[in-house]
Amino acid sequence: MRIDIVSLFPEFIAQCAGVGVVGRAQERGLLSTHGWNPRDYAAGGYRRVDDRPFGGGPGMVMMIEPLQACLSAARAADEAPAPVIYLSPQGRPLTQAKVRELAALPRLILLCGRYEGVDERLLAAEVDEEISIGDYVLSGGELAAAVVIDAVARLQEGALNDAESAVQDSFEGDGLLDCPHYTHPASHALGEVPAVLRSGDHAAIARWRRQQALGRTWLRRPDLLDEAALSKADRALLEE
Ligand code: SAM
Repeated sequence: MRIDIVSLFPEFIAQCAGVGVVGRAQERGLLSTHGWNPRDYAAGGYRRVDDRPFGGGPGMVMMIEPLQACLSAARAADEAPAPVIYLSPQGRPLTQAKVRELAALPRLILLCGRYEGVDERLLAAEVDEEISIGDYVLSGGELAAAVVIDAVARLQEGALNDAESAVQDSFEGDGLLDCPHYTHPASHALGEVPAVLRSGDHAAIARWRRQQALGRTWLRRPDLLDEAALSKADRALLEE
């Protein structure tokens, strides 16, 4: 998969995309990220990319021309079609289901805003979708783009050392939260690892994990239970 990022700070994304699972996905040739700076496509000695808003008011707005030229260069860099996603607090909230959908695409262009945002005409003409990473306002779209890249990278086949781990994650499969995890030592001043996890009884372990996942979803995110694919056995576990 190829991800092009249009940003005034492409080096920020390059740094995030070079480490951990995303870095490994790039090393393994499963993903490539490419930064594009609209300033490189701005006219004049000052390479201006922003201007005052019509109608007055605070802040600056990202101008059409540098962004349009930059987007068109990014698009032309590869022949695979690429939807343009604008990271925006006004977009649809990002979910794991959306991440799965994006991860299956051959290509994606992420547009990061700054200042008060982007001239609305550019958004109407060039953007396929707006995505938000939550109901709060960041100073730029780069962190949001890094979130999308990370979430999408770990779903590329071969990016995780154990593919099973993604399947068991929160929001995956049946839509529940993940169960709690423990590692060595089994006994510690902070507490004991639940005996069932040390029992070697795989059926009992699976049952305990399922019950924990159901229980924490009920406690922490009951809204998820409405959408979750629960069996009769799950409902019985929830009631225990
Ligand atoms: N004036 C805009 C508004 O209230 O909708 C906010 C602009 S914000 C200061 C600058 C940029 O940060 C936005 O253009 C967008 O790219 C990015 N951004 C801010 N919050 C975000 C969020 N929750 N999700 C995704 N991107 C966000």
